Formats: sequence, structure tokens, C-alpha cells
Amino acid sequence: MTKTFQNFIGGQWVAPSDGAYFENRNPADTTDLIGRFPLSTAADVEKAVASASRGFATWRRTPAPARGDILRRVGDMMTKRKDEIADLMTREMGKPLTETRGDVQEGIDTAYYAATMGRQLHGRTVPSEMANKWAMSFRRPIGVCGIITPFNFPMAIPTWKMFPALLCGNACIFKPSEDVPHTGHVLVEIMLEAGLPPEVIQLVHGTGEAAGAAIVNHPLIPLISFTGSTETGRIVGEVCGRMHKRLSLEMGGKNAMLVFNDGDLDLALDGVLWGAFGTTGQRCTATSRLVLQEGIHDEFLTRLVDRSRSLKLGDGRKQGTDVGPLINGSSLSKVERYVDIGQSEGADLLTGGKRPTGKGMDKGFFFEPTIFARVRAGMRLEQEEIFGPVLSVIRFRTTDEAFAVNNDVKYGLSSSVYTRDVNVAMRAMNELDNGITYINAPTIGAEAHLPFGGVKQTGNGHREGGWEVYEFYSETKVGYLDFSGSLQRAQIDNYLGTPD
Ligand code: NAD
Repeated sequence: MTKTFQNFIGGQWVAPSDGAYFENRNPADTTDLIGRFPLSTAADVEKAVASASRGFATWRRTPAPARGDILRRVGDMMTKRKDEIADLMTREMGKPLTETRGDVQEGIDTAYYAATMGRQLHGRTVPSEMANKWAMSFRRPIGVCGIITPFNFPMAIPTWKMFPALLCGNACIFKPSEDVPHTGHVLVEIMLEAGLPPEVIQLVHGTGEAAGAAIVNHPLIPLISFTGSTETGRIVGEVCGRMHKRLSLEMGGKNAMLVFNDGDLDLALDGVLWGAFGTTGQRCTATSRLVLQEGIHDEFLTRLVDRSRSLKLGDGRKQGTDVGPLINGSSLSKVERYVDIGQSEGADLLTGGKRPTGKGMDKGFFFEPTIFARVRAGMRLEQEEIFGPVLSVIRFRTTDEAFAVNNDVKYGLSSSVYTRDVNVAMRAMNELDNGITYINAPTIGAEAHLPFGGVKQTGNGHREGGWEVYEFYSETKVGYLDFSGSLQRAQIDNYLGTPD
């Protein structure tokens, strides 16, 4: 029998106000129905806000080290359930088990990092310009946080947002992507079991247009953290700007790998296959452009096409699968559309470009790893985020040319350079307009204790992960304590104004 899941609102698992549900199906086999999840509305969000506000009132007074201890227990429980979570994640979003295990591990790392931050949430104490006066800054939580997440990292991304938010003393209303509600459900289950006070977390399932928009528009949610497409981020940003909300946006990418004549080609080959076709190309950091120097262009391309043809497509829960399905039918149509666009722009389709046939492939949203050569800078294929297993190959002659190709897109998340020349490597670090640059590694592979995010239309200046995210989820307050017993006027009565 199909399981029906509920929202977690007001400290209880509850049905949505309208009594309506949506189906969650396995993208590798759409006859496999995972469960029914609530189609929540603004009425559900209203109840979640009321409860989260109560949760916040007590949670903010819980000492940060104690908050951190609960997150450490969350990490312990995720560790115990790692394989089970990976399996259910693959079932609902398709990427192979090795990748979903990595996704859970990122959540575990984020939990343990947050736990240590419970004892380090420092402000500063600085000398005052007055005698007998103390000056310090410290952190306060902000309130109820709206957490809106995408489908591609169903565990890692919600933990990047919620663990630091909670550690700082905030309450969270979490709306996972409607494509991956099961992983979101299990994450909340674990947080509650680990001892998080029930009203501090609310889980509201549903679509972005209904539940997501109700969260973004709610006047009593002062902070929104959003990861998703640049198009959706623009809508979210407009509302938050109008309502003066604190907002973190993590959005699309069009990441390039630059391979120079002197690069280690075997290493670059492994890197590009993992970067372009891992998670079926559905990573914000996916390598979607391969920029090859002319001396190695032809040889590298021949080897790449060969290797990509041997990648095994299939159900990510089966051993030996390299590439799983796309997330849903509309993603599949989008990828097909871009294959047409690429061909009409005059790029050479070297391999892939279509849905595979046979062996039950028609039951899922599979698409062959696809490589276009003779792509020129400026083509739509080269400029726009496709979010699928499509790699565009561009030829370059000089370092300046390669850097310009990397930089001439509206996105700025990640970049990668394969070279043995330390001068080129260091120039790349300085000159590539991205939030992250890898040398001799693909465009993916972020670690939980470093800041993660992009420039230009990938982000709005904030970072996830690392120490920087704790700035986003806390407000800096300054305290002055004057123990001189007299009126001391800053900038007027200080030592400069009153020499001996
Ligand atoms: P999406 O924009 O379709 O959806 C993201 C989330 O926003 C979902 O939960 C969705 O329900 C919600 N949403 C949709 N419309 C909304 C609205 N009007 N108001 C409020 N919420 C709304 O993105 P997706 O397809 O789930 O994810 C893929 C995108 O995410 C890609 O563009 C990818 O690059 C990006 N991404 C970025 C990062 C990063 O850190 N930069 C990480 C992962 C994914």
C-alpha cells in the first residue's frame, strides 16, 4: 500500500489543510510510487509560522553549546542511517548510491562542524576610545528562517542551511523540493529524534508556487535562504527586497574546465567525466563547458568521446551504474530542447543527444551522455544552464582567451584548470570570476568547512558552509558598558580632545 506522509507543524505530524497530496515517483522507474506528500497552502505556512515563533522564543535562550550537542547527535544518527538514507535518496532522485552516500556524508560533516561552532560563536572585544569603558560585539539569532531547497542535493543542502541556522538559535520552516520530499521527511525525523525541541522545526511540503511563495511572502519570516535556479531566485529576491528580508541566494552555474597543453591528460579525462556526467549533469557545479588548448584538443576529445560511450546508464541503486536518470519529464524535455538548439547553432554533436532505448530505459527519464564539439563562445549552448548530461567543448589558443571564455557568462560558481605551470595556476586563482577555482581537479568537490557559493548571477554575496554562513544566520549586536561614573561623549571627550 502507498504510504501517505504528513507535514510536521506545531509539534505534530499533520495532514495539509486542503487534504491534497502529490505523488513522489522514482525517476529511474516511474511505475515505482514512493509515497504521497502534502500539497500545502498558505494556511499551513500560517500555522507553521505561529508554532516556529513559539519555538524560537525558547530555543534562542538555550545555550549555543547545548544547541551544538543536539546537532552532534543528529550527525551520529545520520551516520548510523547513512546507507538507508542513501538508498531512499537514490530511489527518489536517481543519482548512484556512491553519490547519495556522499550527499549524506556532507550532512554529517556539516552537523559535526556546527556542533563545534556551538563553542565558538564569538564576537569581539575591543578597546574603547574612552577610559573605563568596555566595548564588545556579540551574536544574536534572527528569528524564524524560511528554508527553500532544490532537488539535486536532497540532504546536503538542507543541512548547509538548517544546521547553522539552528546553531545560531533560530527556528526553521523547511520546504524541500517537491521532487525529493522523502529525504526531507527523514532529515526532520532524525532532528526530532536527536532532541531538537519540536516547535523549532517545521516541515511544510508542497510546490514552490504555493508553499514556497507563502513562506517567502510571510511578513513574520525575516530571513529566507534559497537554493535553486536563477529564474526562481529572481522571483524570491524581488519579494524579499520589497519586504526588506535578509536573503541568501545560491543559484545556477555554467562551469568550465580549462585544460592546457601541459596538463595531465589522464587526470583531466577522469575529472571531466566525473564533473560533466556525475549526478547526470544536475549539479550547480557540474562541468558543462570543456575548454581545450589547441595542442591537445583533438587527442583529448577522441579519448573523451570513447570513455563517455562506455559509461553505464541505469538505476542508481544497481551496482555498476555510472549515470542515473534526470529528475523528471520537464528536465528531460529541456535537455532535448538544448540538443536541438546546439545543432541549429552549428555545433557538432559527437555522441549522445538522445534517450537510450531497451532494458526498461523507457520507464525512466534517462538521457545519453552528450558531447558537442566546435562550440563557440557566445552560443546559447555555451551560455545557458542546461542542467543535464550535456558537455560543450570549446577550443582555445592563449591563456587570456581561455580565461575570457570562462568569465564571459552570467554565472560564476566554479571553475577548474588543468596545468603543470604554477604561474598559470596562480593567475587562474586570481583572474577567474568564480566563487571556487580548482587546480588539477574538476569543478566539483566542495568541503563542508569552507565557504561555498558563487559570484554574478549565481549568488547574492552570501556563502553557504564554512565559518561565513554563521554571519548570515546571526545578527551582530554591539554592547558598550561605561563604568567611569561620568558622562563620556564619544568623539568629543576622548583622549584626543582632552590632552593633559
Ligand atoms: P528550482 O528553482 O526549480 O526550485 C528550487 C526550490 O524553489 C524548490 O523547492 C521549489 O519548490 C522552490 N520554488 C519554486 N518556485 C518558487 C517560488 N515562486 N517561490 C518560492 N519557492 C519556489 O530549482 P531545482 O530545479 O530544484 O534545482 C536546480 C537549480 O538549482 C539549478 O539551477 C542549480 O544550478 C541550482 N542549484 C544551485 C546550487 C548552488 O549552491 N549555487 C546548488 C544546487 C542547485
